[in-house]
Amino acid sequence: MKEAKTQSGIITRHGKRITVSHRGGILVKTGGYSLALDPKRASKSDFSFVSHAHIDHVHSPDGNSKVIASKETVALAEVRGYRLRDAIEQQGGIDLVDAGHILGSRAILIEDSVFYTGDFSSRDRGFLRGSPGVKCDTLIMETTYGTPRYVFTDTEKIVSRVSRLIAECFHNCRPVVLTGYPLGKAQLITYLFRNWGPIYLHDAVFDMNEAHIELGIELPRLESCGVGSKQAAVLKRRPWIVVAPASSGRSHFIKPLRDNYGAAVIAFTGWAVDPRYAYMMGVDYAFDLSDHCDFKELVQLAKYCNPSKIYTVHGFAAEFAEHLKFLGFDAEPLEGIEQSTLTSYA
Ligand SMILES: [Zn+2]
Repeated sequence: MKEAKTQSGIITRHGKRITVSHRGGILVKTGGYSLALDPKRASKSDFSFVSHAHIDHVHSPDGNSKVIASKETVALAEVRGYRLRDAIEQQGGIDLVDAGHILGSRAILIEDSVFYTGDFSSRDRGFLRGSPGVKCDTLIMETTYGTPRYVFTDTEKIVSRVSRLIAECFHNCRPVVLTGYPLGKAQLITYLFRNWGPIYLHDAVFDMNEAHIELGIELPRLESCGVGSKQAAVLKRRPWIVVAPASSGRSHFIKPLRDNYGAAVIAFTGWAVDPRYAYMMGVDYAFDLSDHCDFKELVQLAKYCNPSKIYTVHGFAAEFAEHLKFLGFDAEPLEGIEQSTLTSYA
C-alpha cells in the first residue's frame, strides 16, 4: 500500500527510495546500488541488465559494471561475438522474470517495485511461453507495436495458412524460402514448420539453431544450404525449404533463390500487419508472426501489472502513453525526456 504522496515522489511500502532516469539510457538507482537497463555501451553503474541477445539490447561490458543476464542470453550473445563475462542471474533485491520474447529473454523487477519489460510477449508460440508480467508500482514497458492497427493473427491460423501455401508450392515442385530475424524468429519458424522437408538453413540461422539445440530446445538438426557450388549441389533437388534471415527479396542471398529456382519467399514479422509490407520488401507473402506484444496485449500487460506510473519505450511510445492516459493510467514516454529524476520513491 502506498502511504503518502509528495511533490517529489511516493513512499513505498518498503520505505526505499528508487529513482528512474533517462540520460541516453535507462538508469535505476536505489539507496544501495545503480542499475543500467539494456545499456548500449559499457556502463559505470553497479549493474548492467541485458534483457536478451538481440543486437539492439546487447553491449560489450568493460568489467566495471556487473552484468545481469540469463545463461541463455550469455550463450546466444557469445554466438554473436559479445562476451557478457561473469554475468549473474541472481542478486538481492532483483528478480528476473521470463519475458516470453526469445529464448533467454528476461524482464526485471527491482525491489518489488520497478518492473522493466525489455522486449516482451505474452503469447505462447511454438517452444516459447508467453509471460503475463508482474504486479508493480512503476512499469517501464516496450511499446514497439503500441498503436491500435497492430493486432496479430493467432499463431495456429498463421501456421495453417502457411502450411497450405507450402503444400501448393510443393505440389508444383516450387521451393519456398521462409524469412525472419536470425535469432528468435528463425528458430520459431524452424519449429513451427519442422514437419516439412527437406529444410536447409542459411549459415546465420544454422549457428543460432545449433545454439538453441545446445540449450535444450527440441529443434530438428538441419543442414546449412551453404553458398556457391555447395549450395547449387544441395538445392539441385526440388522442392525444398530454406530458412533465411529477414531481408529484401532483392538481397544477394534471396534473389538468386528466386531467379534460379523460382522459390516463393514468405516473410514473418509483426510489421506484416501493413498490407503493403510484402510489396515493399519484394517478397511474395508476409505473415504477422511476432515476438512482441500486439496493441491489445500491451494494454492487457499494463492492466495486469497495475502500476501507479508507466513509462513507455520503443516504437509508438508517445501514442501508446496517450492511450494509457485515456484508460486512466499515469503514463508518459521515457525516451526523449532528458532529466535526472523521473520517479522518486522516498
Ligand atoms: Zn528483441
